[in-house]
Amino acid sequence: MLAAIGLLALPGPLPGSADLSAPTGDQDVIEVWVCTVPLDTRAHAYQPSPLRLDLDPAAIAGQLEAHVRPWFATLSNGRYAPRFVAGGVLALRTDEGGEDCLARAQDRSRRTTDAVLAVANAEHRADAHGGLGNPGAGCASEATSCPASVSRRGAYVGASDFHPDWGPLPAFDLIEHELGHTLGWPHSGGPAGEYDSALDVMSDSTAPRSVFPDEHHAGGTIGINLVDAGWIPARDVVRSPRDGGRATYRIHRSAGPSGTRLLELPLAADRFLTVELLTADGLDRHLPESGIAITLVDASPAACGTPCDPLRRRHVVQRSTPPYTDLLQPGEVPWSGHGWRVQVDSIAGGTATVSVTGPDRRS
Ligand SMILES: [Zn+2]
Repeated sequence: MLAAIGLLALPGPLPGSADLSAPTGDQDVIEVWVCTVPLDTRAHAYQPSPLRLDLDPAAIAGQLEAHVRPWFATLSNGRYAPRFVAGGVLALRTDEGGEDCLARAQDRSRRTTDAVLAVANAEHRADAHGGLGNPGAGCASEATSCPASVSRRGAYVGASDFHPDWGPLPAFDLIEHELGHTLGWPHSGGPAGEYDSALDVMSDSTAPRSVFPDEHHAGGTIGINLVDAGWIPARDVVRSPRDGGRATYRIHRSAGPSGTRLLELPLAADRFLTVELLTADGLDRHLPESGIAITLVDASPAACGTPCDPLRRRHVVQRSTPPYTDLLQPGEVPWSGHGWRVQVDSIAGGTATVSVTGPDRRS
């Protein structure tokens, strides 16, 4: 059965009307496909093992609908709750890997599908990336919908998170990470790493599991991604003047539902620092403490090209060392970098007071 080439099952009909109790806001339809990997595959990513999981697109879509949709609804404070629908099953050839799996699923996806999630039925090698995700290229026309078959928006993961050892439910954190890429979110991490920060699903998505071994989900994300997704509106971002003066700001936790949630400190065109309060609760309950995180955002042509490839923007955690959970606290030595100085005056009740001193104009 694994030697067959091509389409093994066609997509079924779309489910009925939307759940009226669901959060409002963007409602991407994500179509779930399974790719079967031949036992004699030559694709390097796959573990040299005969293990093939019996994965059903409808069953996976149901699990993601029940568990990943609410995760994104929480992450976005109700602004984004993707719908997962079943696609079909297709068989990879011996020379095909994850990108082929995703591309062929996208080719077969419905016109009403915004993104495709493809899952292989074979595990990846431990030293290979677990998956991939891509926001696609916006459709050229002004059409209201932009199907995945045109945009090429989608994500792919190997089978490891569906291994029976996980129990009745798969691990969801890698899927949540790859779907973050479909929103245009890049990796974050320290200056030398991309997967070493416990502060962001787009870095080490497994971070919550290192604290809570039974956790199946990723932690939350950093404020700049929430702003880029439109889940923190522009009016709730404050930008400090670069005038060498001292200013004090009160910011709410970036994961919260309202209020000023992100402070930006400008450096140059398309480069700035973000200052935000992360609190050790909700999706970030794995953090050992609440405190201030500072991130360098670099969307300059040198970082991401022209036009900027959103996945190549740099989000670099400042201060501390991996996993970057030693957040800046009141009473600690202020952080200084890139000409700015950041001091935490107080943290209480989900808000922080932060004093910043900007670079002198002459510098
Ligand atoms: Zn990634």
